[in-house]
Amino acid sequence: MFSFKNIQEYHSALAREEITCREVIKYYLDRIQESSSLNAFVKVFEEEAIYRAGELDQIRQSGAPMAKLHGVVVSLKDVISYKNHPVSASSAILKDFKAVYSATVVDRLLKEGAIIIGTCNCDEFAMGNTNENSVYGVVRNPFDKNKVAGGSSGGSAAAVSAGLCMISLGSDTGGSVRQPADFCGVVGFKPTYGANSRHGLIAYASSFDQIGIIGNNIADIQLVFDVISGPDNFDSTALQQKIVLEGPKEISKMRIGVFTDALNHPSLDPEIRLAILKTVDDLELNGVLVDKINFDLLDYIVPAYYVLTTAEASSNLSRYDGVRYGHLSPARADELEIFYKKNRSEGFGKEVKKRIILGTYVLSEGYFDAYFTKAQQVRNLLVKESEKIFKKYDAVLMPTVPHTAFETGNVAKDPVSAYLADIFTVYANLTGIPALSLPLYRHSNGMPFGIQILTGKKNEVNLFRLADYLNSINKQ
Ligand code: GLN
Repeated sequence: MFSFKNIQEYHSALAREEITCREVIKYYLDRIQESSSLNAFVKVFEEEAIYRAGELDQIRQSGAPMAKLHGVVVSLKDVISYKNHPVSASSAILKDFKAVYSATVVDRLLKEGAIIIGTCNCDEFAMGNTNENSVYGVVRNPFDKNKVAGGSSGGSAAAVSAGLCMISLGSDTGGSVRQPADFCGVVGFKPTYGANSRHGLIAYASSFDQIGIIGNNIADIQLVFDVISGPDNFDSTALQQKIVLEGPKEISKMRIGVFTDALNHPSLDPEIRLAILKTVDDLELNGVLVDKINFDLLDYIVPAYYVLTTAEASSNLSRYDGVRYGHLSPARADELEIFYKKNRSEGFGKEVKKRIILGTYVLSEGYFDAYFTKAQQVRNLLVKESEKIFKKYDAVLMPTVPHTAFETGNVAKDPVSAYLADIFTVYANLTGIPALSLPLYRHSNGMPFGIQILTGKKNEVNLFRLADYLNSINKQ
């Protein structure tokens, strides 16, 4: 019923009094209920959302101007804090935990009139790429229920794709916004590291984590990014200046590259390869030159990513000891160490434990130089390489994921190949650059997939510009 092209159209309909926020929120709440088999939501804030919609309607009726996100229906990945609301990182260890403050991004959404409709299922502590590591179970792909929605922000991507909300905020440490967006046929955007404050985001690997946006179109993503981004005293890694989205370059003046090593990678589905090559051809037919760029470090990035993120995770997750937060084992423990062990062993799931063990190992005295230091060196190399690339190019293209959505249950049989499937997304997090997955294509197996656009740091304006352009030429 409410098929607005974007938020702007929705706002026009509100302004013309064709609809009210209450009607809209009720529509979405019904949709969520009808689509419960997707398992996209962990909690739905039904009464509260209806109440807030009523308040917003009154504001509009009073003739006051509408805020930037007036009545926009937003969901939050279950790792983003919303004061006095449950947030559990889809983990048993935080099962009954309620946030004591709101994330900065949530405060900014609310200030501009957004309605938070609920929290979305995800992989436990954002670790995974199928959403099968969640204590609440797998999220189903709206295109095919036997396939996963992706991860770790699987609930967020499925919710946007199935029309259960307009926007969802996720977190992207190594692709968790872009990969599920790719699997579910929606737009997934990870900004420059530090563009969005991480205050109130449950940490996985702090030097990689960034709050990202999942939506239906570029205009909406851009609007929400403009609202939530900017400096924040609560996060010392937040950029000191807000990223400006004005003055995009003309497409004909852009220098664009494509990573040939990514296109020739043996893991890449040939149909995805052809689709990206076709887009490159289309760009050239429209007079935009696309250079082939070598990227021979490609095979090092997944190992470096998993060494560094597990190291950071093992340290970040040490705070869950059952004393200050989370699961407290009912079993009696007379010694402190046993007490910690019980709480943590019962509270954390298998994948999280595996990563804590791996992270502790790579940080241990005997292995630190062999693994952690080496991985840091690879990261430094990548940062330098990327600076060079983006001095020369305004944007680079590559696939988002080597294949379309996995069948449910498959990854458990071969977890290493699932890690390797992050090959195209982790680069942006290792180097801190922005990246966006644009859902341009449909595979012959019926599943959607996207193209990934990357630009240099803080160059979001050209990222969005190119995404718009690719959308337009794809429709021709
Ligand atoms: N799949 C990656 C991982 O498991 C990415 C996760 C993320 O971006 N949060 O680490």
